[in-house]
Amino acid sequence: MVFSYDDVNYYEYMLENGFTYKLVIGDDGDVWSYGLDPKGNEVISQDLDAITILDKFVKEHPDFSLNGAKGCLCLTGYEGILGYRTNTDANNKTAAFEENRQREREAVKPVIERLKETGWYFGSHTWGHINLSKHGLESVKTDTEKWLDEVGSLIGETTLLFYPHGARPDGDDVTQTGPVFKYLQSKGFRVFFSVGIESYSKVKSDISAVIADRLHPDGTTLRYSREKYLKFYDAKDVYDYEWRPNYGNSW
Ligand SMILES: [Zn+2]
Repeated sequence: MVFSYDDVNYYEYMLENGFTYKLVIGDDGDVWSYGLDPKGNEVISQDLDAITILDKFVKEHPDFSLNGAKGCLCLTGYEGILGYRTNTDANNKTAAFEENRQREREAVKPVIERLKETGWYFGSHTWGHINLSKHGLESVKTDTEKWLDEVGSLIGETTLLFYPHGARPDGDDVTQTGPVFKYLQSKGFRVFFSVGIESYSKVKSDISAVIADRLHPDGTTLRYSREKYLKFYDAKDVYDYEWRPNYGNSW
């Protein structure tokens, strides 16, 4: 089992919905989450964020993970990374914005370093969370350069690309290798991930690359694909009946 977490950016819209705001380094040198409760009080915890929860779990159950491996964090760039606003903004080119951006870039570095030390690694989820099945080559190039500039420069080289929306480029990269795929491969990406509810992977024979699907344990599959995920967990056991809006389910 290999974990990958998409959009570990702590987007603005999520903060008011009870998500943590960012990852920070605690006095103990470990990764903690930082946020504000509805009354505005600071909450620093290791029980409220998927990353710190897995960190704690592996600490308590070292046999769960070979050599302490955790998972891949798949990052966009348009609202920064890991809760730090390291992104440029086409509508705000003021010196104050740029100064803050540079401060945020410095502040996130120790968090990246500690995550890497503790079994985490990184992949691209494109800068703008763009749908690669709809964007042409020029727009993909602009997006990729921005990602490499603003995110790649912080997290280091990666060969992993996680398609936003699971959308494959060039029509369908399972059946063909088009200009967008070739371009992305030329930028160092070698493993290209879509999403699906079955395990799937294929070594492309015409170019050095692998394409693979990831199962997505999200709200949709929790509600409507219980059967497919029973080998990992039973949705009935983990579903939060009290706090989740009732969108229905298939079980
Ligand atoms: Zn995403």
